[in-house]
Amino acid sequence: MSTQKRSYRIGVIEGDGIGPEIVRQAVRVLDRAAEKFGFVLNYVPMDLGGCSIDKHGVPLTQETIDLAKSCDAVLMGSIGGDPKTSPWYQLEPSKRPEAGLLGIRKALGLFANLRFSVLYDDLKDACPLRQDIAQEGIDFVILRELTGGLYFGEKSTKIVDGEETATDVLTYSESEIRRIALKAFDSAMLRRKKLTLVDKANVLESSRLWRKVVSGMAKDYPEVELDYMYVDNAAMQLVRRPSQFDVVLTENMFGDILSDEASMVVGSIGMQPSASLAEGTFGLYEPSHGSAPDIAGKDVANPLATILSAACMLRYSLSEEAAADAIEKSVMEVLKQYRTQDLKADGDGTLLIGTKQMGELVAEGI
Ligand code: NAD
Repeated sequence: MSTQKRSYRIGVIEGDGIGPEIVRQAVRVLDRAAEKFGFVLNYVPMDLGGCSIDKHGVPLTQETIDLAKSCDAVLMGSIGGDPKTSPWYQLEPSKRPEAGLLGIRKALGLFANLRFSVLYDDLKDACPLRQDIAQEGIDFVILRELTGGLYFGEKSTKIVDGEETATDVLTYSESEIRRIALKAFDSAMLRRKKLTLVDKANVLESSRLWRKVVSGMAKDYPEVELDYMYVDNAAMQLVRRPSQFDVVLTENMFGDILSDEASMVVGSIGMQPSASLAEGTFGLYEPSHGSAPDIAGKDVANPLATILSAACMLRYSLSEEAAADAIEKSVMEVLKQYRTQDLKADGDGTLLIGTKQMGELVAEGI
């Protein structure tokens, strides 16, 4: 019998602001999971954003792109500084930290963004929805197409019939729809096997193509229950009865809007993991929040969105499902007794802890 352990190369971008503190806790948790579940993680540090500007003069280097491409997956903190005070924002837009993020997404072909919304039992009070709605439970993921649609279509502003007229073209090809729909069906198979395609097929030709392609693929996934919803209704249903959703698949602009709505539904910004996936199993995993320069270096940032992003990385890119489950379970257990500042409410009976201790407790709980 082979004694060779499963081994993976993980790119690590600590980034700026709270990035280094939260990523170090995620790495601590990953190390514990690897030890417990018998695999090896080899970390490859790389620069992006403000720290790359300081070291190399640019927010993204070819070296970072090449290193990332040599990895099985990349875990990232967050990048950027305070736009009002940081010298990075005196630079022209193409040299600022955020340009590095857009650049790496493009270079790595990350076309599917997954934003997870989970309302943890012990955080139901943080949910801004009515308690009877929160009690039904919230656990869904929005898959947003990231590189096509209206944001990337042809654009023009010209004079037509004597007045200024602007045009944005919305285009999707069958193959662009198919590759993200595959990710959506595969995600549904890893979850509760329910997929909702959100579109505007009553008025948009592109939406009708989405429906045709996605419905055609459904026969390959007989276990997945597929339904369709117009985007205006989906915006309403996300706050009316979010418990009905499992996997939501949608195009770029609808996803942009719905994923921000979804982040409010579960309360804290410090709890939402996200993933951006390429063809195959490669992905870049990061918390949904920014670099929070206002609290950087104070050991108060909540590392859980990054820790949960690391769990998603294990599940989606490395197929280490059991280790991912164990991390998520440990997070739920720890939240019963401990909270970082952003989650803490007066008289909630929990203990206030810092970034490092939160990482240590989650790691111990695995
Ligand atoms: P932000 O998400 O960094 O912070 C918003 C508020 O939430 C702040 O009060 C912050 O202290 C708090 N917060 C954020 N994460 C937290 C955590 N883990 N624990 C506790 N509190 C947390 O958004 P912002 O202030 O608008 O942006 C700050 C910087 O981050 C900017 O440079 C922005 O461009 C960048 N940014 C980067 C990403 C990314 O790397 N993907 C995403 C969004 C914003």
